[in-house]
This record gives sequence, C-alpha cells and structure tokens, in this order.
Amino acid sequence: MTEPKPNKKPVSTSTPDWHADTVAIRTSIDRTQYQEHSEPLFMTSSFVFSSAAQAAARFANEDPGYFYSRAGNPTVTAFEQRLAALEGGEACVAAATGMAAITATFMSQCSSGDHIVAAKELFGATVQLTDILKRFGVESSLVPLTDLDAWKAAMRPNTKLLYLESPSNPLTQVGDIPALAELAHAHNALLVVDNCFCSPALQQPIKLGADIVIHSATKFLDGQGRVMGGAAVGKAELIDESVRAFLRTSGGVLSPFNAWVTLKGLETLGVRMQQQSQNALQVAQWLTEQPAVSQVFYPGLPTHAQHELAMRQQSSGGAIVSFEMRGNSNEAQRVAAWRVIDQSQMLSITTNLGDVKTTISHPASTSHAKVPAAERQATGLTEGVIRLAVGLEHPSDVIADLRLGLIA
Ligand SMILES: *Cc1c(COP(=O)(O)O)cnc(C)c1O
Repeated sequence: MTEPKPNKKPVSTSTPDWHADTVAIRTSIDRTQYQEHSEPLFMTSSFVFSSAAQAAARFANEDPGYFYSRAGNPTVTAFEQRLAALEGGEACVAAATGMAAITATFMSQCSSGDHIVAAKELFGATVQLTDILKRFGVESSLVPLTDLDAWKAAMRPNTKLLYLESPSNPLTQVGDIPALAELAHAHNALLVVDNCFCSPALQQPIKLGADIVIHSATKFLDGQGRVMGGAAVGKAELIDESVRAFLRTSGGVLSPFNAWVTLKGLETLGVRMQQQSQNALQVAQWLTEQPAVSQVFYPGLPTHAQHELAMRQQSSGGAIVSFEMRGNSNEAQRVAAWRVIDQSQMLSITTNLGDVKTTISHPASTSHAKVPAAERQATGLTEGVIRLAVGLEHPSDVIADLRLGLIA
C-alpha cells in the first residue's frame, strides 16, 4: 500500500472572511489520511496510544490529543468548531441536549449565594431548573421579557447572570439583547441568550453583546427532527475552562453520532431558515386576514409589538408563528383551537419545533400546561392560542390544511 498523499487543502478552522453560508459548509476538522469528502464519524469511546509514555503525556496534558470521548471526540469537535464560527464565538462546547447545555452553564457559572435574573417566558424545563438551583443556594427572579424596568429592578449585588430566549415561546415576544447586555455588564454579570428560535442564521447574540449563547441542537440545527443535542458558545475562558470542564465531569456530553447529524444539519441551516421564515411570513399574513383569528404573533409582521426591535437584531421573523382563535369564553376558544388542530390532515401534532415538517400545537394544554392558568391568561397565552413551527412544505399547502378547521 502506498503512503496516502498529504492533505493538500487543509480544512480551515479560522475563516474570518467567509460568508456564513460558506462557514457552515467549509469549517471543519482536518480530513483523515483517507481524504474522505464528507466529515468522518468517529464512533469510538476511546483512543489508543502508541506507548505507555504517550498515554502518560496525554493525561498530563503535555501531548494534545483525544483519549476518551467523554472528554473529547473529533466529530464532536467538528460540530463545536462549526457552530462557534457561525455564532461568532471563540469556543463552543456540545452537550447531550439543550437542557444539558443550560444546566452546565448555570452550574459552572453560579455558586451558592449567587442570583439569576431570567425572563418569565422561558422554556418550561429551564424554569424548572431554576427551582432545582434554589436547593443549591442559587435564587432566581423571573421578570417579563420585554419590561426593561423590571429587569433593572430585579438586579441585586449578587446577580451573576441574566438569561433570556428571544423570540419567546410561543408568543414570539422579542427581548432587547443590546440593552440587557449593557445592564448585565454594568453589574459585572453575564448575559446568556438561548438562540434556539432564530439560530445563528437569523440572529447572532454575541455580536449584540451576549456572553454565552445556548442552543438546543434538537431544533433547527439538526433541522429534521432526528436527534437531540445542545451547545454553549462564548469566550474560551468561559466555555473551555468552565462550562466544558463541568460537562466532561458531570457527563452530559454529545454522542459522536448526534454530533455528526447536527454537523451535517448546519450545512443547510442558512437556506432552511431563510425559506422557513419566508413560508412562515406567508402563513402569518394569511392568518391576519381570517375572521376566526383574533391575533397573530409573528415578529416579521409590522403589527407585532416589537417588530422594529426584531428587525434590528434578527435578519427575518423566523419560522415560529402563533395565533389566537376567537371565542366568547376560554372553553369556546379551546374548542376552536383544538378544531383547527384536529381537522388538519397534513400538519404534525407535536410540540417539537425546528423540523422541515410543519408542526402544530396547543401550548395551553401541552407545553405550558404547568403554568398556572391565571398567569397564562395574564401573559396573553390564552386557550385560543395555536403555535405553528413552519417547515419547508409549500406554504399554500400549509394554508390549505389550516383552512380545514379554521373556516367553518
Ligand atoms: C427545546 C428547547 C430547549 C431544550 O432543549 P432540549 O434539546 O429539549 O433539551 C431549550 N430552550 C428552548 C427555547 C427550546 O425550544
């Protein structure tokens, strides 16, 4: 067997002058000696050493290299580098799920006696996590996402981090990321943004002042509803020395297979997000014309309460559209909403989002059922609200399917 030729075109990991579409496809680790075109999948739990001395050197951090996949795996590294480049962050650490990334971020940044200010409008499991943190001496104050004065009033001398999602789920409220970054930094606190709904294709929170960006890779990064995954992106000193150190010890790391799937998902992220946003805008516009619909929540519509802010920090409205069915009572609204869901023939009734298949859900009775009813109503999340996560089907087919239960 002849020696393989050296890799003539090393795959770049630092690509400051490329467009995001190119970064998403060309940022990766070096090819192996086989010169494979597609990124290799390293399904291995450990790595062998050439000698006892090399093993010792690697454990002493004197010889860089992989040794055990909980501590690092080349396919996972490839996903991390590509996502870091897309978010404009120095470093990225991958996690088994979005919640594993969020848990690792909180646990690595906060100690007993610290305080967190977070938006009320958070993913349900993240709110439950703030309850768990209480048992370890970390208190949280939850404030309305769009009420800057409430954020300011909640700050304490021991506030360690501010946490938000924008746009929020399911009513697509938009938080002012630059203003919250300024508030955080004035108090020596960190701003952490869950960028799940926009993905780096539409919004890059680090450029807007955030210190750490969180992802559930389960959503748009995979993009086809196949695997679970998560990540945290930010400065190397925060990510590598803190979040990664916590994750490799606590164990919630991403599997190489899931890393490979999401790595390949990133290649099509830009076109998917652009097209899904366009489709969502068409569906949202159609919904505004329906007499049975009382409100449409979509940041890309000029009628959205934070439309201008959304257009400043996002390149489009995103793929999530929520809308409210009319009804004289909570019960009448619920019946109308369930009718739209049940009459649809094509849309998937599931609470997941970020898939190329459009999904439809009733947040009040599913993802947000644990929120007390009075609190739900007060924030506008009524029994009439339906959430769509618009996919890549032709928007006229999505509209035709919604029409079945919407037009009596
Ligand atoms: C799904 C989701 C999460 C949690 O991610 P998992 O991968 O399910 O653990 C966190 N934040 C947001 C906004 C989400 O939609």
